[in-house]
Amino acid sequence: MPKKVCRRFWKSVIHTTRGVSLTTSNSPLDSSEPFPISKAAHAVQDAVQLFYQTRILPNNRLWQEQSNAGAEIPQIETTLRAEAKALGLWNLALPRLAEHEPGTRLSNLEFTGVAQILGQLPWASRCCNSHAPDTPNMELLQLFGTEEQKEQFLEPLLEGTSGSCFSMTEPEVASSDPGNLATTIVADGDDYVITGRKWFSTNGSMANTKFTIVVGVSDPDAAKSKRQSLVIVPLDLPGVVVERDVPIFGATHTSGGHTQFRFDSVRVPKQYLVGEEGAGFAIGQARLGPARLHHCMRAIGECEVLISLMIQRAQQRTTFGTRVDGYSSTKEAVALSRIEVDQARLLVKHAALMLDTIGNKAARKQISMIKVSTFRVYQAVADRAIQLFGAAGITSDSPAAAALVRARGLRIADGPDEVHLQTIYRLEAGEQNNSDSAADLAHYLNSPFGNNQ
Ligand SMILES: Cc1cc2nc3c(=O)[nH]c(=O)nc-3n(C[C@H](O)[C@H](O)[C@H](O)COP(=O)(O)OP(=O)(O)OC[C@H]3O[C@@H](n4cnc5c(N)ncnc54)[C@H](O)[C@@H]3O)c2cc1C
Repeated sequence: MPKKVCRRFWKSVIHTTRGVSLTTSNSPLDSSEPFPISKAAHAVQDAVQLFYQTRILPNNRLWQEQSNAGAEIPQIETTLRAEAKALGLWNLALPRLAEHEPGTRLSNLEFTGVAQILGQLPWASRCCNSHAPDTPNMELLQLFGTEEQKEQFLEPLLEGTSGSCFSMTEPEVASSDPGNLATTIVADGDDYVITGRKWFSTNGSMANTKFTIVVGVSDPDAAKSKRQSLVIVPLDLPGVVVERDVPIFGATHTSGGHTQFRFDSVRVPKQYLVGEEGAGFAIGQARLGPARLHHCMRAIGECEVLISLMIQRAQQRTTFGTRVDGYSSTKEAVALSRIEVDQARLLVKHAALMLDTIGNKAARKQISMIKVSTFRVYQAVADRAIQLFGAAGITSDSPAAAALVRARGLRIADGPDEVHLQTIYRLEAGEQNNSDSAADLAHYLNSPFGNNQ
């Protein structure tokens, strides 16, 4: 994008937002009031909003057309990516973005507002290079990559010239328990030899996806949490086989897909180990904290769209002489959605603040909490939108059906609800047991229950 056009864009952000934040949409909570952010971060948020409104959203139908015609990356997406990069609306989800790296650094909290804007369309985050799984992989390499790994694998991701995926889940074992993983990483001279099968590696078969990060067992005799390591595997190495893109709800993704890989004794140099041997579990967990947060805020963005569409649809149609928004069931569907979405947003912003202030590990209870609660809300809102849209709700003419599919998947991806609920319980009970007030609880009980009752 020519410099002149860039300058004009930023001028119009300032002009349009004089005194008002563009990012205050329907909900007063959007203004981030309970979780203040800097003026500079507001300006970025406003710029993303303007870019979304003027460039991304008006091109949604074109994007769909090009995607339906078989384009893995629609041409319009490539155009918009170049524009966003020139404007600095790039790599917005990386709180550790260095000065010399392309884009604009935002904290996790600052990014939540941006993620909500971009989440309104499933492909919009890609325009600002702020999408999964590249963002969590970039963060992982920033945190644990060697200088050589950063140069070879991180830089192209930051520049947006290539993509990546992550391969942990295996079809043969229950992978929500990483202790079950069977793929092996065996040291042999200067190399590691990787053997096993992975599936659900999102974006694995896209032409521009150049490498995956494989989680495998490097020491089967070590303690459960120290058995796994992470290794970068370029996808053009001999022995890397794409077996298929796994169909989701009966359909195969046109772009990206969830890929099933076979690794047939794939040799990678030892320099491709990420972090230390045996650190795979800990690093994998660190990677997922912010990734879950981003998914949650994007989901909230899409919920906002669905709420607006529900209201509009109900106001436009009449049954049995009554406009559909006249029915109490409609009012309830919208009102419950508003309550739940605002609750979820507050929880997610709080979790973001925790990530920024106490770190990924210490905030894991909050991350599990938003992972469970937000996607349940997302699923419920999508389901209500489908119902209000009638038959159109299950077609691709409205975004509700695709939202429901995404929401359903997200209750399993990055760890199923049940595992997160157990984590929440374990951490909550631990906090309660360590609290000074545990002994005071007896005062609330009117009968002297013994410990064994
Ligand atoms: C849309 C989508 C994208 C994904 N992207 C990726 C990716 O890019 N890379 C990748 O590696 N993986 C990816 N995954 C895979 C995902 O992370 C795994 O599916 C998830 O971790 C669960 O593992 P599993 O499928 O083996 O289920 P299993 O471990 O077999 O669990 C199945 C079910 O068992 C029950 N269960 C399991 N543990 C417990 C427990 N402790 N308590 C009670 N019940 C329990 C739950 O109901 C659970 O849903 C993706 C999945 C989806 C749906």
